[in-house]
Amino acid sequence: MFEALKPQPADKILALMQAYREDPRDTKVDLGVGVYKDASGHTPIMRAVKAAEKQLWEVETTKSYTGLAGDPGYADVMIDLILGDAVPRSTVAAAATPGGTGACRQGFDLIKMANPKARVFVSNPTWPNHLSILKHMNMEMVPYRYFDDETRGVDCDGMMADLANVQAGDVVLLHGCCHNPTGANLNLSEWKLVVEHLNKTGAVPMIDIAYQGFGDGLEEDAQGVRLVAGNCPEVLIAASCSKNFGIYRERAGLLMAVCSDPDRGALNQQTLNFLNRQNYSFPPDHGARLVTMVLNDPALRADWATELEEVRLSMLGLREQLASELQRLSGSDRFGFIAQHRGMFSRLGASPDQVEAMRRDSAIYMVGDSRLNIAGLNASTVPILAEAIIKAGV
Ligand code: PMP
Repeated sequence: MFEALKPQPADKILALMQAYREDPRDTKVDLGVGVYKDASGHTPIMRAVKAAEKQLWEVETTKSYTGLAGDPGYADVMIDLILGDAVPRSTVAAAATPGGTGACRQGFDLIKMANPKARVFVSNPTWPNHLSILKHMNMEMVPYRYFDDETRGVDCDGMMADLANVQAGDVVLLHGCCHNPTGANLNLSEWKLVVEHLNKTGAVPMIDIAYQGFGDGLEEDAQGVRLVAGNCPEVLIAASCSKNFGIYRERAGLLMAVCSDPDRGALNQQTLNFLNRQNYSFPPDHGARLVTMVLNDPALRADWATELEEVRLSMLGLREQLASELQRLSGSDRFGFIAQHRGMFSRLGASPDQVEAMRRDSAIYMVGDSRLNIAGLNASTVPILAEAIIKAGV
């Protein structure tokens, strides 16, 4: 049996991590994998998460199974965090999943169950794992224009022109905030255009939100998803707690199915439970429980929000420093987009050869499409990167 297996393409980001580890140069800078790092290059456990973990050790009396959809208290706090009062709680079916990746996967599975012929429209570019999971599931993907290579902002006209081809029953995958890999995001009027268009065509939005709080703030980053949820009859939302709670390895995510028809809610919930059962039965609980404890305890919640804001502002500061350093070195404003982008990533717009030159000559590791993880920088590596960018002729 095993002889029939073929080698699968290596994950480019994981391969880059390996190459970075093996590079002996002590000036090397890792801007690859999407993990937040503080100025010393460490990915910390957030204070509130650590405190909740300590409490949990004291109060947890069983490790028996939770429900198939996870602890309902987790869904409640996450729905509140992401959707606020955009929709009544009763319209949201939700299931805990292993991370945001699990939420995407379960969401795609639900789409396939509901409409095996659904085409999933994906931004060009998008998080590569969207594409590889959809491909693995044999689902049809249609790219829509998203990133303007000239301005390094959103190509809204191109996007709307490509979305003109969606039909009822298709799904349009959107990033809730902090677009990965580009860092370019829709503004509220662009979100409104998308909502109007989806409602006209009957296509269903699916929103992947993995960085709430990393862009413009917790509330601000949820504006797009709230607008969509409040105005489209059906919405899927895949959320991750990996980044904004810093609990990457705990695998805490949530898939939500929002439906304005009250008769469909129970069936949606039952379907989500069923899908969990088929794929892994009960979802992981530890990370979800920590998130629930943090969000339900006013002091822990306030401390978490403060620390998240520190993380957000530190990345914003690095963006501004890099943009101004590049302005100084290039004598032009052409890198101003770095300060406009939001979240952990920016697509620099460098060619693969330039990316390779930066790695070879300056030990700068970024993904081949020139996505850089801003959090991989600190105040002293920003000038090194800026020089490498100019030297590579970007
Ligand atoms: N969606 C996007 C766009 C992401 O960037 C990520 C994290 N890389 C995820 C989902 C899910 O992450 P996780 O499975 O680690 O929660």
